[in-house]
Amino acid sequence: MQRAHFTDEHRLFRESVAEFCRREVAPNLDRWRHEHSISRDVWLEAGRQDFLGLAMPVELGGSGLADFRFNQILGEELAAASVAVNSALCLGVDIIAPYLLELTTEAQRERYIPDFCAGRLVTAIGMTEPQAGSDLAALKTRAVRDGEGWILNGAKTFITNGGGADLVVLAARTGEGRKDVSIFLVDGDAEGFTRGRRLEKVGQHEADTSELFFADVRLPAEALLGEPNRGFAYMMERLPQERLSVAVSSVANAASVLVETIEYVKERQAFGQAIGSFQNSRFAIAEADTELDVAQAYVDRCVEAHVRGELSGVEAAKAKWWTSEVQNRVIDTCVQLYGGYGYMEEYRVARAWADARVTKIYAGTNEIMKDVIGRSLGLG
Ligand SMILES: Cc1cc2nc3c(=O)[nH]c(=O)nc-3n(C[C@H](O)[C@H](O)[C@H](O)COP(=O)(O)OP(=O)(O)OC[C@H]3O[C@@H](n4cnc5c(N)ncnc54)[C@H](O)[C@@H]3O)c2cc1C
Repeated sequence: MQRAHFTDEHRLFRESVAEFCRREVAPNLDRWRHEHSISRDVWLEAGRQDFLGLAMPVELGGSGLADFRFNQILGEELAAASVAVNSALCLGVDIIAPYLLELTTEAQRERYIPDFCAGRLVTAIGMTEPQAGSDLAALKTRAVRDGEGWILNGAKTFITNGGGADLVVLAARTGEGRKDVSIFLVDGDAEGFTRGRRLEKVGQHEADTSELFFADVRLPAEALLGEPNRGFAYMMERLPQERLSVAVSSVANAASVLVETIEYVKERQAFGQAIGSFQNSRFAIAEADTELDVAQAYVDRCVEAHVRGELSGVEAAKAKWWTSEVQNRVIDTCVQLYGGYGYMEEYRVARAWADARVTKIYAGTNEIMKDVIGRSLGLG
């Protein structure tokens, strides 16, 4: 289906991201999977190509392209190469950039944004804790006043880019009310800030997912982002873009696996014919292709709404849960069509199947998405 919301400028941008993926991402995936993180070089190269600070102002080293269609293209091309590389890079571009752009003081902006855009500053966002994921208001990490500054204690888990991050955008409790949470900018070299293991995941091995520990970390007053005790609202306001980012990547990732699968079933023979010529294979692929087209149309509408500043949290929640389900269904179909090879780690389809599973869990579980939608309908 024609995707009418892109202009020639967007199409040119897509070509440069696709080239970047071919040259800088694809050849390194095996190594990054073993190292459980993507290399600094790819951040720096993405910075040189102006991919990291899309919405950031030009005077701070950004691209000045506050148009989410560029984020969509970057996310799609990265997810087509690897959903884990998408997670690592788009976490900064789609999720952290709005915090750094919209909530910072002049001094914070000047300190962090140029390095962020250049790929010299790898960032992470620390919300989830061992005892607080979906129920974020239960988080226990606490910052208490210490003169002008703060003292931070607590732990975070499952933090993407956490092991290597130079800066963590961190949620911590700063009052007695359930939602008295503030957001801090914690430098990677702050004394008392240590990293735990790079967690062994089922998939997305290229992404660094780590535990973070904070023991009496002294934060200066300038580490506070925005107003104290407003952190919960800040996080909620920025979740729609995070969820849209996951939706963009889910569809693109599954679509790329389906393309490879179609090639495979045209080649692979059984009973004297290509397995793609069995009616069952044709129907399975037709269903997968249709599901992706329909999902893509909804995501594109959401992107258009977001560009106009009209995307609601409920629409983003629908996009996130639906597309992550479609992604998992489609890739599972692809695994089946590969037969035993589809279960072999050396085949991309097998890795993509394991990589996809978490998209139903992170950025808010699909149950939480449905809760948001159900409540908007006056239920509960
Ligand atoms: C690979 C990976 C990367 C991640 N990256 C980050 C990151 O960079 N930063 C960060 O802060 N976090 C990150 N997370 C954490 C992720 O956002 C959480 O895992 C997720 O929000 C779920 O929280 P939880 O794991 O504590 O599960 P729980 O909240 O314990 O949920 C367990 C189950 O209970 C269900 N459930 C919970 N509440 C309800 C309810 N009200 N109604 C119905 N069902 C409910 C859930 O849907 C789920 O099925 C990452 C996680 C993974 C696995």
